Amino acid sequence: MKIKKGDQVLVTKGKDKGRKGKVVKILSKTNKIIVDGLNLKKKHVKPKKSGEKGQIIEMSFPFSVSNVKFWCAVCQKGVRINYKIDKDKKYRICQKCKKSI
Ligand SMILES: [Zn+2]
Repeated sequence: MKIKKGDQVLVTKGKDKGRKGKVVKILSKTNKIIVDGLNLKKKHVKPKKSGEKGQIIEMSFPFSVSNVKFWCAVCQKGVRINYKIDKDKKYRICQKCKKSI
């Protein structure tokens, strides 16, 4: 997966299309990511102790990494990521402006 934790991404499909957010978790087995504040769903949380009330919280749920593009701060748009190998080190670069990311 080219997207990494901490990346800014732009959603290109689905209900959050056009929104940006920061990747907080990578689920590489399922090719899914969790983006802070996006794909929010309500979740019922059961009380941990007796006497406590259960509550409903909004959580960011995982969604397919194919629904996002990397947000390049230089280009100010969603871009594809390329790899560049230099002195045996692999860098990620923006396909448009070629800046390393
Ligand atoms: Zn760029």
